[in-house]
Amino acid sequence: MLTKFLNAATFIVGGDALLTGDQTATYCTDKRGRYTGHALAVVFPSNTQQVSELVKLCAEHKIAIVPQGGNTSLCGGSVPLTEGGGQLVLNLSHMQRILAVDPVNYTMTVEAGCTLANVRLAAEQHNRLFPLELSAILNHCEIGGNLSTNAGGNGVLRYGNTRDLVLGLEVVLPDGRIWNGLKSLRKDNSGYDLKNLFIGAEGTLGIITTAVLKLFPRTLTNATACVAINDPETGVRLLAHIRAICGDNLSAFEIVSRSCMEVVLKYVAGTKELFASKYAYYLLIQASDVLQRPVDTILNSAIESFGCGIQEFSVTAAPDVAENWWKLRLNISDAQKSEGISIKHDISVPVSRVAEFIARADAILQAAFPGVRILAFGHMGDGNIHYNASMPEPGHNKTFIAQHEGEVNTLVYEVVRDMQGSISAEHGLGQLKRETIKAYKDPLSLELMQAIKQVFDPYGLMNPGKVL
Ligand SMILES: Cc1cc2nc3c(=O)[nH]c(=O)nc-3n(C[C@H](O)[C@H](O)[C@H](O)COP(=O)(O)OP(=O)(O)OC[C@H]3O[C@@H](n4cnc5c(N)ncnc54)[C@H](O)[C@@H]3O)c2cc1C
Repeated sequence: MLTKFLNAATFIVGGDALLTGDQTATYCTDKRGRYTGHALAVVFPSNTQQVSELVKLCAEHKIAIVPQGGNTSLCGGSVPLTEGGGQLVLNLSHMQRILAVDPVNYTMTVEAGCTLANVRLAAEQHNRLFPLELSAILNHCEIGGNLSTNAGGNGVLRYGNTRDLVLGLEVVLPDGRIWNGLKSLRKDNSGYDLKNLFIGAEGTLGIITTAVLKLFPRTLTNATACVAINDPETGVRLLAHIRAICGDNLSAFEIVSRSCMEVVLKYVAGTKELFASKYAYYLLIQASDVLQRPVDTILNSAIESFGCGIQEFSVTAAPDVAENWWKLRLNISDAQKSEGISIKHDISVPVSRVAEFIARADAILQAAFPGVRILAFGHMGDGNIHYNASMPEPGHNKTFIAQHEGEVNTLVYEVVRDMQGSISAEHGLGQLKRETIKAYKDPLSLELMQAIKQVFDPYGLMNPGKVL
């Protein structure tokens, strides 16, 4: 039976595009090394027709499929389950053609396996911008994976999440039929917007094979500011102040706590302090297509209007200087890894309440676990904070995490719930939050999600054990 299945799959994709046994190992462990599963095989189809034939074959043999892009996601959605071992990893990396770029319509049509770097490059070659920006994984993550996790990143403030950057999709459904929703229209009120069901679905409703993406005018100049502040509240007020003046030209507004800065300075070569003195929090702000001088002026006017929360700032239009500043923000996750494991949260609250969230969560955790070290950083501009807890002493940290992870999660998530926030802002649910979400999403939403899953995938073959 199994041999028959593998022979048929090999016939569809060719012998070079199917791996079994030890060769599958790198495709079975997730980026954080938290989940390792076992795959029947890993296949690399090279076009939509092959994806469709493979999915039909799986449906016939009742074999579950794990769609996979660059395998960079952070919640264990892209790897097979540990239990069992009978899942097929369907990796889209061989489908990497840029099918069309239409600079007049400001769209491009790309296959799901294109890396984000190549999508951005192809847009640039036509003097256009594809604004999704995930610098740390640009060369590894693929557009199908970005769509399936509805990735955010630093540019959400100006351009929205990946969902906002898509006009059309082609999807292979769990029974192998190909749904052609490859529209490149900016207006289409002809019934339910089906494409949006597949975006952020983490591969549980079908396999995205092609997408029509929105393009934008290229930004000509960027002014970048680093600002030292006393407390997150100053950040929230500054955000509102700058936004009122810069409007959509404000393209990034990130916050970094001193604790994050310390681990980056310790582990990432070539990084240095932003200022001679040390401060509790830092902001990295980017405004596109405005001159450096107005950003200086805006920050000075902010100091005049709400004073001492802003300690120091510096503004640059020089790309190399800005790049060095961004290094401090973009390397936090990697630096943190070198420091040891931590209990991570990817939460969102209304932008106006970010400071309140940090203050409340800090106070609750410090009271429950005196000495706990909190690394708070992220996309303040969209209310999305990565809020990570650990103990500074490595030996103690392991015990702390082993014994208290659930408790820490509950304390943080209760604050999020109380503020009508989300416990999963941009990384998805995958395996990691599949169970936890049940306590934080309203029962009717969960019921509707189950019903949608049932319509698309009645046999539960598309990425089972993820999201739901
Ligand atoms: C260092 C680092 C920094 C990051 N920073 C950010 C950030 O700032 N903002 C943010 O939003 N995210 C961030 N992420 C997460 C990032 O969004 C995801 O890792 C990325 O979008 C996933 O792309 P991928 O190709 O690797 O997908 P994979 O990891 O391979 O897959 C992700 C999910 O999508 C499914 N999938 C993949 N391809 C398809 C397809 N073609 N059809 C259907 N389902 C599919 C998989 O089954 C899985 O559930 C970061 C990750 C890392 C490692």
